[in-house]
Amino acid sequence: AKSAGRGVHAVYSPGTVDSASATQNPLRAELKKAVERSELALHYQPIVDLREGRVSSFEALMRWKHPSRGMIPPSEFIPIAEETRLIVPMGTWALKQACTDAKDWPDSTKVAVNLSAVQIECCDMFEIVTEALHETGLEPERLQLEITETVLMRDQARTQEVLRKLHDLGVLITLDDFGSCFATLNYLRSFPFRKIKIDRSFVRDIPEHHDCVAIVKSVADLARELNMRSVAEGVETAASLLAVRNAGYTEAQGFYFSPPVRASGIKRAVKQCALRLAALDTAIAEDK
Ligand code: C2E
Ligand code: MG
Ligand code: MG
Ligand code: MG
Repeated sequence: AKSAGRGVHAVYSPGTVDSASATQNPLRAELKKAVERSELALHYQPIVDLREGRVSSFEALMRWKHPSRGMIPPSEFIPIAEETRLIVPMGTWALKQACTDAKDWPDSTKVAVNLSAVQIECCDMFEIVTEALHETGLEPERLQLEITETVLMRDQARTQEVLRKLHDLGVLITLDDFGSCFATLNYLRSFPFRKIKIDRSFVRDIPEHHDCVAIVKSVADLARELNMRSVAEGVETAASLLAVRNAGYTEAQGFYFSPPVRASGIKRAVKQCALRLAALDTAIAEDK
């Protein structure tokens, strides 16, 4: 736990990954080893700025390369990591790795890192982020942190203070998976968000479903009225890209542009995004 750095108040103890729980879920006991054996990796998915017409950032997405089971998706291991609090050292590692990788990217491309509620609860995230930026030399303006609605539900006062301090440092805070949880309009006022990322469940069904179009459009309007940026996540087709662009989203992310790729595949992903943007321009011209 020491290696996770200063600012870590409460971390997992060896007893939390016990044999009884291991029988419930074999991945539970293996995750601790995975951290020690460096089986974790970060993949990066481009987020495209639709106004500037270029890749503005990459979202860092954790991957577990299990020696025998192959690639395990975060939906399976992040919940375990949170239960066992292994997310604390894992999250600190991801933050530092992401800052290190982003340091090499051209054109001041930014990096977005996901934060778990457990990290905010257990650690001094301000100190951990400051340390990661200091160690890697990445400017705070090039780091974005993605927080889901569940984070906000836990300890509001603490979360508010931490996010405010990070915001004041120049780090951009994004509200992730907006709309997936419950009515959180109030949170938009109480926390220093500068960007809203609409949940991909809404984006997936446009342009076919009228209701989704209405929701997707009103979230973009809301963001604009609040002077925030907006990201449509889960853009899988040319048609949905055109729809979110017409709805007024400032940014888009999804398999249509690129899936998450390993750090060495960043350049290719940027080229692929440029092709998709050119196709979008053609579609817009034809639309008129
Ligand atoms: P998220 O932060 O909302 O990340 C976006 C997820 O949507 C990623 O799934 C990404 O691969 C997927 N995605 C992007 N575009 C498309 C698309 O066009 N279609 C579809 N069907 N999916 C798309 P992934 O990588 O499996 O991650 C799932 C979740 O796991 C993330 O959701 C995030 O909540 C969590 N996660 C991933 N990495 C980390 C991490 O380093 N720390 C923490 N705390 N959570 C993480
Ligand atoms: Mg995210
Ligand atoms: Mg999301
Ligand atoms: Mg998500």
